[in-house]
Parts: sequence; C-alpha cells; structure tokens
Amino acid sequence: MKLGVYIHVPYCRTRCPYCDFVSEAVSGAVPELFVEALCTEIKGFDGHPEAGSVFFGGGTPSLMTLDGLARVFEALRSRFVIDSESEITLEANPDDVSRELVQGWRILGVNRLSLGVQSFDDPALRYLGRRHDAEGARRACRIVAELMPRWSMDLIYGARPAEVWPETLREALCFEPGHISVYGLTYEEGTPFDARRGEALEDDDALAYYQAAEHALSGYDHYEISNYAKPGQECRHNLVYWHNETYAGFGTGAYSYINGVRSRNLSGTHKYLAAPGAKEESIVLSPREIRLETVIQHLRLRWGLRRDYYERRFGRGVYADFGNALRDLEARGLIGVSKDGIYPTAQGFYLNNEIGLALVDS
Ligand code: SF4
Repeated sequence: MKLGVYIHVPYCRTRCPYCDFVSEAVSGAVPELFVEALCTEIKGFDGHPEAGSVFFGGGTPSLMTLDGLARVFEALRSRFVIDSESEITLEANPDDVSRELVQGWRILGVNRLSLGVQSFDDPALRYLGRRHDAEGARRACRIVAELMPRWSMDLIYGARPAEVWPETLREALCFEPGHISVYGLTYEEGTPFDARRGEALEDDDALAYYQAAEHALSGYDHYEISNYAKPGQECRHNLVYWHNETYAGFGTGAYSYINGVRSRNLSGTHKYLAAPGAKEESIVLSPREIRLETVIQHLRLRWGLRRDYYERRFGRGVYADFGNALRDLEARGLIGVSKDGIYPTAQGFYLNNEIGLALVDS
C-alpha cells in the first residue's frame, strides 16, 4: 500500500488570531535553515518508499522559495517513489499567488493547490486577521483556476459579519473549484480568539450556516464532514487519514502513523532545527485502538465503512468488535446500516463527535 507524505512548513507571514497550528511569523521567505533540516529529515527516512500523495501544509508553504521547494522535491524523490499518479498538494495563501509562482510549482511537480480563501468579504477577512483581502482572493482564484488541473478552496463560516456567508458561497462557486473545504470558526484555547469565545455562533446558527453550505454546494459530493468534491476531485491525501492508513510526516511538529505507531516530531522550531526527525512522542497503539480509530475515521466519510474491508484488514467483523455502540448509534439516528456496511446519516455528519464518543466509550 502506498503511503501519504506530509510536509509541515511552520512559517506564516503573520499569525491569524484564531489559528492553533504550529507556525511562527517570518518576515521573508521560509528560512534556509529549515529547508536544510527538512531535507536532512526526509533523506534519513527508512520506511516504505512508495508515496501515493505528498501534502505541503502549514503554516504557509507558499512562502517557500522555488529554489527551496526544488531541494525538498529532490530530497523527496531520492527517498520515495513519486509517480505521475501521485497527488502533490501545496497549501497557498492568496497573497502569495502569482502566475510565475504557480507555473514554477507546476514545473516542480505540484499538481493540486489548496487555497486559503476563507471568505470573499473584507470585514469577515479582517475579523479573521487574514493578510489578504477579498480582491486578493478573487485574483488568486482566477490564476489558480486557469493554471492548476486540480485545486481546492478553504472557506470559514462564523466570522463576523456572519450573514455574508451565503454570498461567499455564491462567489466561491463562480470559480468552479473541483474541491471545497468548509469549516466552522473555532475559538481555540491558547489563541487570541480564546478571549472572544462569547462571539461564537449559537448552536442553531452554526447548524444553519453548515446547512446553507450543504444547500449551496449541492452540485458537489459532500463526501466528508467538512469537504465537498466534484467526481474524482476528492483529496487523496486526506483519504489516507480517513482510512487510517500509513502516513509519514516531516517538519516541525508533524505527525506520522506507521506500523501502528503514532509519533510526533519536535514542535518547537529551534528544537526541530537542532534535531530534525527527533520525536516528541511515540505511541504504540493496541490492536483494539487501531480498529477503533479505523471505524471512527471511516465514519467521517459519506460512504462510511464497508464490512468486507474491515474483515479483510482485521480478520474479524466490525459488529463483533463494536456491535453495542453501533446498534446504539443506529437507534439514535447517527449512523445508517446497509448490507455492505455502516455510514453516517446527515445527523451523524453534523454531530460526528458523538459517534466518536460512543465508540470510544464502548
Ligand atoms: S495563515 Fe494559516 S497557518 Fe498561518 S496563522 Fe493563518 S490560519 Fe494559521
């Protein structure tokens, strides 16, 4: 089985006040020292060599110079088999996008872009503390739509003013991205937004905005809780996570999941630069934990979990392991059951954390 490769680039031009990802502000391009450390870590990897996907996430990978990115690709190709079928995604901030840069990314092998648009409304973008404005988002969308064969747009509902959400959805559709990710704004502990929790949407309003997205994006397959795709445009890299399959993470604070061991790289930049690839933690999952996570992750997907897949992978039936919890979830209307498998209902999509809790408690 091919693995997913994740590269975490922990730098942003400015820090958005709602974000709790591992990243720090940098005034210029991604520092050379980080690129060197990343290449060292990649070249030292001694696991499975076939990569079905590579995902440059962050942080803001679009802050890497083309020369730095070329060296990371060289390191990747020295260690992994990456063929024409491999999906290679790079996350980009609209402000960084230019025709020259997108063409440069394509030449290096990037075949999918994920554009952090978030909103097409200037006050909402200011509320989120984003560095781009609505016109910058439109300009980037036009370039990416023209030059990239596959691309995705990230959107956030819940920023103020919240009622501009339908208009942002309408405008998003004009650019015809093959894939759209829709997230509700969260007020995470440890971020500047933590102190503004009182501004969070009421549950009923959050549900209404979530459903407005479902309605507006009805021409797309709502294939995962937060993700919509045209046929064949699903994010293959994220499917590795949702199938609970093998992935290798490189860069500051990146997670890996290999042979039942979940590990995390050092998350402080200085620590990472001093010891690229050293682990902050490694957890050996028990066989039951692996089966549990496989069920929970699959139930994020519209098509859910096939019984024969589970039996092939684990040599036992999913009802033998989690029958009580699954029957309870079915009775509560959170999952549906077919002769082939189990899948989340519309209610189970929205209240997906309840599915996870019931399975964990079983
Ligand atoms: S650009 Fe993205 S990763 Fe960077 S601070 Fe903003 S939300 Fe976080």
